[in-house]
Amino acid sequence: MQFEGKVVLVTGASSGIGAATAKLFAKYGASLAITGRNYANLIKTAEECNIHGKKDPLLIKADLTNETETKRLLESVLLHFNHLDILINNAGIVELGVIENTSLEQYDRIFNTNVRAVYHLTMLATPHIIARKGAIVNVSSVAALQSYVGTLAYNMSKSAIDQFTRCVALELAPKGVRVNSVNPGAVLTEMQKRGGMAGGDGALEQYVERSKKAHPLGRLGTTEEVAKAIVFLASEDASFSTGVNFPVDGGRYVLGSTGISM
Ligand code: NDP
Repeated sequence: MQFEGKVVLVTGASSGIGAATAKLFAKYGASLAITGRNYANLIKTAEECNIHGKKDPLLIKADLTNETETKRLLESVLLHFNHLDILINNAGIVELGVIENTSLEQYDRIFNTNVRAVYHLTMLATPHIIARKGAIVNVSSVAALQSYVGTLAYNMSKSAIDQFTRCVALELAPKGVRVNSVNPGAVLTEMQKRGGMAGGDGALEQYVERSKKAHPLGRLGTTEEVAKAIVFLASEDASFSTGVNFPVDGGRYVLGSTGISM
């Protein structure tokens, strides 16, 4: 896979899957723009990119739920690189909740981050990606493909991303732009802690044990395994793939929904 001369924007690159994805793109020679809210963590990602990459990434601090910051993000990328080839919509959040206790505030927070922000940035970036006949990869979840108890709004938001992926893929195919998603299974990152899955009562350990059983391969995935799938779908090696929702989930999707928690 070769990304020399390609400008790649990775959202949520300050942590977890996004950071691993940025590093892999750097290894394959991409010109990188990385974004997140935590600037200190973006610097860490940039340092790790520099170990493999030939060029310094462009770091842009932005809250993607803020429209002005999202516009400024894209303007900064275009000002710096003059064009944009590939957009990786990776930033996202999870929160626990079922229909009886998920407030509208919680619902809005999740949908504003996981859906509205992705819609907005993609809308702004699309003309530039069309100009380069580039690609978009969205980070969805196996929770979009199956039904679980305990993360209702999150599961719904990721299903929306899968539909978004397929519809935009159809819209942009005649213009030479491919749009795909990856649908990861459980990968231990900051997300579980931030999403309340790691209380001090052994909840994280229980989550890990539950996840091992839920994935036929018998383990959780790694950020690097998801990054490889993202980079593949963005690359010319996937030149005939568009509108795909690609599980990277140790077989969890084919196992079928067990009705248990994520
Ligand atoms: P992390 O919590 O490690 O990373 C999430 C990233 O999203 C961070 O860089 C964070 O930025 C960024 N982010 C969140 N909200 C905003 C916002 N409002 N504006 C800008 N950036 C934001 O989680 P993961 O790496 O695990 O998650 C990455 C993606 O993978 C998410 O979309 C998630 O839903 C998906 N996923 C993860 C799975 C898992 O098991 N880990 C499984 C399936 C899908 P900052 O830290 O700077 O605030």
